[in-house]
Amino acid sequence: RQNAISTPSKTKEILQKYDFMFKKSLGQNFIIDTNILLNIVEAARIDEESNVMEVGPGIGALTEQLAKYSKQVLAFEIDQRLLPILEDTLSDYDNIHVHHEDVLKADVPALLDQYLPAEGGVHVVANLPYYVTTPIILGLLKVPRIESFTIMMQKEVADRISAKPGTKAYGSLSIAVQYYMQAEVALIVPKTVFMPQPNVESAVIHLRRHEQPVAHVEDEAFFFVVTRASFQQRRKTLWNNLTASFAELKPQKEAFADELSAYDISLTQRGETLSIVDFANLANVLLKYVT
Ligand code: SAM
Repeated sequence: RQNAISTPSKTKEILQKYDFMFKKSLGQNFIIDTNILLNIVEAARIDEESNVMEVGPGIGALTEQLAKYSKQVLAFEIDQRLLPILEDTLSDYDNIHVHHEDVLKADVPALLDQYLPAEGGVHVVANLPYYVTTPIILGLLKVPRIESFTIMMQKEVADRISAKPGTKAYGSLSIAVQYYMQAEVALIVPKTVFMPQPNVESAVIHLRRHEQPVAHVEDEAFFFVVTRASFQQRRKTLWNNLTASFAELKPQKEAFADELSAYDISLTQRGETLSIVDFANLANVLLKYVT
């Protein structure tokens, strides 16, 4: 543990040896606290049989702990300057492959199949670059091999992802994630564990893929369109938000309201009061009224 990459002295030594300058534009805030890394590994509930995907290994602080506690690690790093450093810092481990590519552009399913053993699911564990947290998660949610995510992000985003109906943080992002995954905040993390320190509070969220779908949705793309439309203006009612996107609904109000009442949904409600099941019912009914 004293020799871990993540100790402040070791991190400084590595950065100096390679004359490394942080790139703010790539969200480079490295973890310099081994306890936090071990807490992340514990929150991920991985073991020696687990396949792990990491996004943004940096100088390898988290990667090293993941390699110790899992079977195989595939890490995606966008910054070319970090490749020789990672080769050096992770040279003791033979179960890590670093892939140099922007994770948003990579063919993730193909690379998982290429570098991680075919049997078993994949667990994403990462301290994400905060400027692209949401697109990275929304993209990876659709990769069926990924069973869970344990990721450090801005606390405000973690709160929105894990929010329950009726709360201020609940919105289309909560639904986009919770449709696929059970979400919980696992850790709140102080700024002091990072170098350099970020301007925002951080949290680690744990997402686990639902074994059964939480709702019956007839057209998934349309379901997400309807949820986003319902939160377009948070203070407006469902009716006002829906007709702003689907003007053809207006002359059909009575029949539409009638059908929804069978599902206990009223057009005077606000989007933030509807559960995922409510949104599924709403979208399934609405599909019949719009072309
Ligand atoms: N894992 C290290 C740690 O915890 O100390 C570094 C985390 S740092 C917050 C984010 C890392 O993601 C940086 O190494 C950065 O270069 C990398 N990164 C940023 N954007 C990326 C992208 N689109 N694809 C892959 N890696 C990216």
